[in-house]
Amino acid sequence: MVVILKENPNEKQLENLKNWLTSLGLEIHISNGAHQTILGLVGDTSVVDIDLIKALDIVEEVKRIQEPFKNANRKFHPQDTVIEVGGVKLGGGNFQFIAGPCSVETEEQICYVAQAVKEAGAGILRGGAFKPRTSPYSFQGLGADGIRLLLEAKEKTGLPIITEIMDLGQLKYFDDVDIIQVGARNMQNFELLKELGHLRKPVLIKRGMSATLQELLMSAEYVMAGGNDQVILCERGIRTFETYTRNTLDLSAVPVLKSMSHLPVVIDPSHATGKSTLVRSMALAAAAAGADGLMIEVHNDPQHAWCDGPQSITPEAFAALVKDVKSILPFCRYSYE
Ligand code: PEP
Ligand code: MN
Repeated sequence: MVVILKENPNEKQLENLKNWLTSLGLEIHISNGAHQTILGLVGDTSVVDIDLIKALDIVEEVKRIQEPFKNANRKFHPQDTVIEVGGVKLGGGNFQFIAGPCSVETEEQICYVAQAVKEAGAGILRGGAFKPRTSPYSFQGLGADGIRLLLEAKEKTGLPIITEIMDLGQLKYFDDVDIIQVGARNMQNFELLKELGHLRKPVLIKRGMSATLQELLMSAEYVMAGGNDQVILCERGIRTFETYTRNTLDLSAVPVLKSMSHLPVVIDPSHATGKSTLVRSMALAAAAAGADGLMIEVHNDPQHAWCDGPQSITPEAFAALVKDVKSILPFCRYSYE
């Protein structure tokens, strides 16, 4: 349920309203917009008599929210959420490039790629340390050492870093990681999501390969229900009958998610297509669809990458892509409020 207040509500009356709602066992989330203040109510709102609230002087309107996601709902929080890490912003008109290799391999590799993507215009460095691989015989990532190397690259370049967590036992290595990634395979690892809800650092959640958009939003809700409202949504392609591409990029996810939620939406054209030759066009299409950012796999030597080489682009190709995407961004503004 949301309670939309009239402009400049009387403070005393607002305080009384809040106390009353809290006494009914409801949690109140306040969203202060330029012209409107909205009280989002979470809990058993069946106990609330809508007509009583509507009758109050300071109340403009009261609406029930039908969707099961509340904190992530745009009706709760009409303004776009802006994520800020290490001096860079993502969301609310701040387009961001997240780039780096699929996995951290060596110190030279990650530091080289970090510097190259920074010069090309990336604001955030990616790199997998704990890797969810389909085969147990494939390279599983460098683990804690991989995070150590990422932190070295962060130190050298100043870029904030994002890396994937697969299990709660790994959380102890994430203290200095700027954004925690929950991969497609863990999107519904609810215990993990709940624990990340207790942190106060951004979490990027990738859409599971057979998850609906509502399920993705429910995963975001798990994190937000714990009090962590810094969530980024990422579409990375879903499973369909098409086998030419690794997955099928669902670009309509961008306007749909953005209309349903205030959270930033990032597109990963690398995992979505599995082919380096398709990354540029899908990146441009994502920007045109209104995405808030891109996550792109970049490798100095894709042919010899330890993981996901076929979909990785070179730093040179990434630099050209950034230029192209930036050139169309002024035409890609949409309003969902
Ligand atoms: C990744 O980003 O390296 C990754 C494993 O992605 P996904 O969870 O989308 O497969
Ligand atoms: Mn990968």
